[in-house]
Amino acid sequence: RANKKALFLEIYKKAARYYYYSLNQRENEHALNYFYQRGISQEVIKHFGLGYAPADYNIFYRMMKQEGYEDEDLVESGLFIKSKSKGVVFDRFSDRVMFPIFNINKKVVAFGGRILGEGQPKYLNSPESLLFDKSRTLYGLHIARQEKHPYYILVEGYMDVIAMHVAGFTQTVASLGTAFTEGHARLLKRHTEQVVILYDSDGAGKKAALRAIPILRSQGIQVKVLQLEDSKDPDEFLKKHGADEMRKLLEEAESHVWFRIKEIESQYHLDLPDERVKFLQEIAKLLGNLESSIEQNIYTKEIAMKYQVSLDALEAEIKKYFVAKQ
Ligand code: ATP
Ligand code: MN
Ligand code: MN
Ligand code: MN
Repeated sequence: RANKKALFLEIYKKAARYYYYSLNQRENEHALNYFYQRGISQEVIKHFGLGYAPADYNIFYRMMKQEGYEDEDLVESGLFIKSKSKGVVFDRFSDRVMFPIFNINKKVVAFGGRILGEGQPKYLNSPESLLFDKSRTLYGLHIARQEKHPYYILVEGYMDVIAMHVAGFTQTVASLGTAFTEGHARLLKRHTEQVVILYDSDGAGKKAALRAIPILRSQGIQVKVLQLEDSKDPDEFLKKHGADEMRKLLEEAESHVWFRIKEIESQYHLDLPDERVKFLQEIAKLLGNLESSIEQNIYTKEIAMKYQVSLDALEAEIKKYFVAKQ
């Protein structure tokens, strides 16, 4: 089994080299131009080991066969697929720009591949394997962990991590389309005490942030949330406004509690008494379930003042949920 792991590491390393080499071949200029158009320079390509899987359906497979690899191993690695009907083996990735995913020892353990234009699926990831456990891998962590950072930044995608690193925010990592898991939170906890969630500004991004918050909190990580207003994601924001504006917003990122309160508030018409009641009950539930009692105490006072309800009434309501939890 140890041998198999070594073999797969070797296959992934060869793949990363091959894709990197292919990106810089004359006939694949369109792929290189794709990166250039997205503001990714040759230097960045090198830093992240970006590449291109050529359009030919089995070109990488043929190369690996020439080097003497067995079909069985190649298919098991996840980088090749055997057709069920004819048993033909072909490359999993073709005509996609490639993002190698590194483990914390800087070994390539997986790939994400993006289609060059529009089309589905936009991103394709290599499958989980002996080397790659999705829920324990964060893109960008191999670089982020090289230095100490006061906080980490959690984004959605490859391009966001790259753009953030280029802008100087080298503490940025992504969970890559897969839902953020407890494994990710544990991994982060080993490196930092605080995380700023900076997901896409669409509904999906907001929902994903609301799901990630309690997972991070349950590991004792402090959580802030930054929502972008006029850009769909951090990559786009940085292109429009630059690193200084991003730094300002990061400094002003709000506590996860306010983010959740605002989210609940948006569902009620607070000028109607009945809705106000329901809203405050919902808020009491949120406060009662906060992971820290200090946090609970501070926000309870703030909420009572802000929404003009007596502290006693709010505390009584919170107790219902707090007691239910014990
Ligand atoms: P781009 O800027 O290249 O369009 P993005 O990162 O903004 O990409 P999103 O649609 O916001 O794309 O997706 C966020 C992340 O989710 C992607 O970077 C990728 O890791 C993952 N992802 C997106 N679509 C898929 C998919 N179809 N299958 C698997 N993962 C995906
Ligand atoms: Mn998104
Ligand atoms: Mn996005
Ligand atoms: Mn994007």
